[in-house]
Amino acid sequence: MRVWLALAAIGAVLALASVGYAAASTGLPFYGDPPDDHHPWAIHDQNRPQPKVVTPGTFSTPEQPGQPPSDAIILFDGKDLSNWEADKPEGGPSKWIVKDGAMECTPGSGQIRTKDKFGDCQLHIEWAAPKDVKGDSQGRGNSGIYLEGICEIQVLDCYDNPTYADGAAGSVYGVNPPAANPLNPPGQFQVVDILFRRPIYEGDKCMDPGYVTVFLNGVLVQDHTQLEGSTGHMKRTKPGAFPDKGPLKLQDHGNPVRFRNVWYRELPLRAVEGGTDGPLSAEATMAKRKDLAAAIRRQAAYTMPDPANPLPELLRLMESLVYEKDEPTVQKVRDMAGKYFAAVKALPADKLGSKKDDVNRLNGAFKYLVKFNILPADFGPNADIEKLVKDQGWDKK
Ligand code: MG
Repeated sequence: MRVWLALAAIGAVLALASVGYAAASTGLPFYGDPPDDHHPWAIHDQNRPQPKVVTPGTFSTPEQPGQPPSDAIILFDGKDLSNWEADKPEGGPSKWIVKDGAMECTPGSGQIRTKDKFGDCQLHIEWAAPKDVKGDSQGRGNSGIYLEGICEIQVLDCYDNPTYADGAAGSVYGVNPPAANPLNPPGQFQVVDILFRRPIYEGDKCMDPGYVTVFLNGVLVQDHTQLEGSTGHMKRTKPGAFPDKGPLKLQDHGNPVRFRNVWYRELPLRAVEGGTDGPLSAEATMAKRKDLAAAIRRQAAYTMPDPANPLPELLRLMESLVYEKDEPTVQKVRDMAGKYFAAVKALPADKLGSKKDDVNRLNGAFKYLVKFNILPADFGPNADIEKLVKDQGWDKK
């Protein structure tokens, strides 16, 4: 029992150590499960691009808008309407006004829209209904956030103001009610964060129906809600394609609703539109795997060849096989590994020990490629290398 406990403890320490090492490095070759038919990357793949560095912003307070993150595209920072124009007449100056760091709807002036057009996004926007409460239901503090100018996320003073559920603040208007009503009293700013993924079609075929997720004052109100076409009043809209890009529009519903701190961030491409994260089609996966293999082979050829130390180039070429079993590369690996092993074997006994780490690395690479059926067990000098490692006791810690 004691032995078992001791072994379990050693196992736990080793497991933690390996986790720590992986986390501390940028990934290792010949380590996690290799790419498969729907994933072009290995698990913990060192060739996978690093996430871009973004300096986070700050949260807003009722008195003060927060700072956007460093990669945000600013649509309104409280100063002017230079990024905005009237929706009608098309593209003219808007009659909305800027006052006290907010843009305010001038009732009767029509919708305002961004000059910028964009599609999938993380959108941040803050709005405040008039403090002076007038009207009820849909007539109180009504405006709207129109994604791509066509899909309305409702803006409405729902504080102690019942209305039809699918038209409440944070609803996908006429489609899906918000899951909660977390509004502040009128006059105070409400903070809205939206993740928008437009529907994607190829001809008549729906590749992705599109989704919207909305947080209202930090409370989830739309949970990956599937889109059902552009929204509308009284009419049930039908699912369909959205444009790739469109302007953000804010509604004039006859109430002087104010907006501040409007920005968005572009979202990474989905697999269905050429992104390489998440499960991909077999075709897209193989195309990406070929790209990765070719890039690694190029890198091996241009930056690594060193007759005195061929191991880095050899290992990199072996790594390329994980993505694509390219026959000329297989031949080159066989040739290089054979020559490398012959050179190591020819070393005098007192020099052989200096090759322990290198040979262990090569042996580990072969073991990985054999384990995942990328190379056969009898490939090139694989068996001889393994025997050398065992004979020398290099496999012992
Ligand atoms: Mg509205």
